[in-house]
Amino acid sequence: IYTSSNAEVAIPQTSVFTHVFASRGHGDIGGFPSSRKAFIDSASGAYVTRAQLLDLALSFAHGLRTHPDTKPFAKRGDTVLIYSPNSLAWPVVLFGSVAAGLRCTTANSAYTSQELAHQYADSKAKLVVTTDQGIQTVREMFARLGVGKKEGDQKIIIIGADLQWAGGPSAKSSADAAGLLTLEALLKGEKLSEEEKFDGALSNETAFICYSSGTTGKPKGVETTHLNIVSLLSIVGPHFAPITTGDVMLAILPFNHIYALTQAIQLSLVLGLPVVIQPRFEPNEFCANVEKYKITHSLIVPPILVVLARHPAAEKYKLSTLRYLASGAAPLGKDMVFQVNQRLRKNGAVCAIVQGYGLTETSPTTHLLPHFEAERKIGSIGPLLPNLEARLVDDEEGNVDAEEGRPGELWIRGPTVMKGYLNNPAATANAVTSDGWFKTGDIAVRDKEGFFTIVDRRKELIKYKGFQVPPAELESILLTHPDIADSAVIGVEDIEQATELPRAYVVHANPETIKTTAAQALFSQSVVKWMETKVAKHKFLRGGVSVIEVIPKSAAGKILRRELRDLAKKERATL
Ligand code: AMP
Repeated sequence: IYTSSNAEVAIPQTSVFTHVFASRGHGDIGGFPSSRKAFIDSASGAYVTRAQLLDLALSFAHGLRTHPDTKPFAKRGDTVLIYSPNSLAWPVVLFGSVAAGLRCTTANSAYTSQELAHQYADSKAKLVVTTDQGIQTVREMFARLGVGKKEGDQKIIIIGADLQWAGGPSAKSSADAAGLLTLEALLKGEKLSEEEKFDGALSNETAFICYSSGTTGKPKGVETTHLNIVSLLSIVGPHFAPITTGDVMLAILPFNHIYALTQAIQLSLVLGLPVVIQPRFEPNEFCANVEKYKITHSLIVPPILVVLARHPAAEKYKLSTLRYLASGAAPLGKDMVFQVNQRLRKNGAVCAIVQGYGLTETSPTTHLLPHFEAERKIGSIGPLLPNLEARLVDDEEGNVDAEEGRPGELWIRGPTVMKGYLNNPAATANAVTSDGWFKTGDIAVRDKEGFFTIVDRRKELIKYKGFQVPPAELESILLTHPDIADSAVIGVEDIEQATELPRAYVVHANPETIKTTAAQALFSQSVVKWMETKVAKHKFLRGGVSVIEVIPKSAAGKILRRELRDLAKKERATL
């Protein structure tokens, strides 16, 4: 058992809200001036200060608790589904919901109605917060689920484009939003005098339910408790980059994923670091925002580094203020870091590019490379964070530990390990041992100095640009195609883009109808197109579709993914 070489930190048993907005008063919130900007909208420059954010969150909580439309669904422990791209309203909705004692389940804003329906039903959400662009999909979702024919039965809260509540520009909402309850309406009234408390043992109650497929199967709700999050903030905080007054973070990763949810929205507040919110990544806009807002810090994923290494925007704009880029969610190659560092140096920036590691199930970060080791330990995910224990396991059962310096499956134990998968004790028992070890499904090695490196993935999960693509989900969708008899989905490497691409192998229901290579190619293309009507963009079959006679399976019926991966390599070699 490996423990962290970092000193243990004290972890307050309290709610996320109480922790983030600790010590209120005397012009100070959480140890920083209450007038300091907390979140800034990149496009308009509208912003909320720490004090305004606190007030807005408590107003939203009061609105939820008292408005006749939401009151019955906003009791402590009820669940709200947040389905929105990143925006200035996001942190208000999140902290307001938490202050009201609600659990937040956060969905990818590109989800289709089918994907959303799974999460809404599985999490037993009762309220949906969405934007003008999301209403249509939410309505389709309700129709799929047969929820309430009358508008009033479908509890939707709309985040409009209007930013007047944050001193920003006014804008009209779409006709689609007419008649729906708005964020603005809920912000109008009084505010809760204080947040719902989760102190002591109550800190083990669930705060967030993000979705992850874990090592196998379809997306499952990960129950993350208040204590999990407060622990995460406490153990990552001291190991994050040094921060001085005037530093600014640029947030581009989706807030629905636990990485940005905890670190762009919450850790930033704990560290007193103002955050500029750019709703989605676009190279020119990213670089323009770095220049405009003199950005010093950002949380990124490897494909963004590809852009910084190659895109002309990285030379067009002044990026010299950048000091810290923390990459997570997917493996980061050494070459890429070298290239970006060279380019940034030319642009006048001295920037530490570090890698972190973690999973939704570990709230998420378990490892983070210290900024001062960025060059010496390039490629490593860093040492284990404090208060955590790790094992590198050499067998399926967990009886044998890998020898020093040898690869093994990384197991993690500690206060950031999830409570479990929501309403799924079987999946929880599969993932967490009776003595608290969470099995990551990733293969790691540890060097003599205690630095870990991820070398392989044992589980079936595919990651496209940091987003989860659960093969089991795509396989079950493929099986609903009238011409497909069997299917398997794997990830293939795309080195250029620093990501994996989902690739499907399918067995045709009537193989004699597509005997020629040309007919098979046509069929494959039609399947790629067909999938694009079913799932969010990051799950598109960008790695292609290949027709095969039979899916290789073990005697127990498990897909032999390793064989398919080897096949994909051979296919690529003959291209
Ligand atoms: P998620 O729950 O969506 O955060 O996905 C967690 C998974 O992402 C991990 O189990 C890893 O397979 C992968 N991952 C996250 N960070 C890294 C990293 N730094 N290097 C390699 N894989 C990573």
